[in-house]
Amino acid sequence: MDIEKNVQLIKERIARIAGGRPVTLVAATKMNDKAAIQCAIEAGVDVCGENRVQEMLEKLGQEAYIGAPLHFIGSLQKNKVKFVVGKCDLIHSVNSPALLEAISKKAASLDLVQDVLLEVNIAAEPTKTGFLPEDLPQLLEAAGKFPSVRVRGLMAIPPKSEKTGENRGCFAQMRELFIDIGAKKYDNVTMDFLSMGMSDDFEDAILEGSNMVRIGTAIFGARNYGAAAASGPRINGGI
Ligand SMILES: *Cc1c(COP(=O)(O)O)cnc(C)c1O
Repeated sequence: MDIEKNVQLIKERIARIAGGRPVTLVAATKMNDKAAIQCAIEAGVDVCGENRVQEMLEKLGQEAYIGAPLHFIGSLQKNKVKFVVGKCDLIHSVNSPALLEAISKKAASLDLVQDVLLEVNIAAEPTKTGFLPEDLPQLLEAAGKFPSVRVRGLMAIPPKSEKTGENRGCFAQMRELFIDIGAKKYDNVTMDFLSMGMSDDFEDAILEGSNMVRIGTAIFGARNYGAAAASGPRINGGI
């Protein structure tokens, strides 16, 4: 795998589609080791995004992410909040009011403010977590009660697309939510980041307004799930 070349190609594709609009390239680093991650950082990814708390802690111990900011992009359980808050610049995956509250409490105890995104279950898939669009206003109102978090935007993982263009509708719905919320005034809430788009659909996501893409396979190659099966069950339906 030529990680450097892959990153260059992806950056070119992003630039072509974005037409001058800034788009943050998050390398989804799960199941890749320090050497691969350092290669991606040197090649110019903007951010590293990690999925599982345990894996992130191990790699932090190895200084695998030196040179780039770190985001947490996987699903986060409440009892693991304490390992993540303060270690990541942005948590993409806040999917319940209880999680928002737990993050705020931990951040307050560390005397810092944690930036987060709200995860939207945009296709209302029963197998996925995330807020339904209709639940967002209530949560955004509640964000004002948690002074140690800042909601910086929205994140979505639409259904796995079989064909190019299939998720355009989901991405467009996300853009509308992002714009509508941004036009309103909620305490502790700004709509700066719209995190959507992965290896198979990032161009469509950018066309529909994404300004933060999370890309794994197209940078690092296919992940070898067989080799990692011993390390525990997969969360988040094969992602
Ligand atoms: C793994 C992962 C990605 C990247 O997926 P690819 O299809 O490999 O690009 C993006 N977002 C999240 C939350 C992920 O877990």
